[in-house]
Amino acid sequence: MSWIIRNGSPVHIYRGSGIFCFNCADFTEYKYKSKYKLVCPKCGDIFELEPSLWDLVKDLREANNLTMAELARRIGSSRSTIYRIENRRVIPKLDTVLKLAKALEADKDLFLKKLEEIREANK
Ligand SMILES: [Zn+2]
Repeated sequence: MSWIIRNGSPVHIYRGSGIFCFNCADFTEYKYKSKYKLVCPKCGDIFELEPSLWDLVKDLREANNLTMAELARRIGSSRSTIYRIENRRVIPKLDTVLKLAKALEADKDLFLKKLEEIREANK
């Protein structure tokens, strides 16, 4: 699982599994409490998550009642591209991110900031 964790601590985004629990000072498999909340099974500590670019695309697509194919059509791309983005298989290119922001009526600057975050975290 890949997440941006914000808990007054450094932001971490992992494409692999296992997340560092600051409380236990150890890597652990967090359990989902809700979509953007994780609970550490060892100490019960709850982490609030911030949606990544990947998550935002999916959330906004669903909020706009668009299918993957419809969104793909809007940005002149293929359904498989949308699928790969939403499932964190790829880090989308800059021009794709800009098209997605426009198609989803999202804040362009936010999308660019989120793109930078996943690029940094997955170097
Ligand atoms: Zn813990």
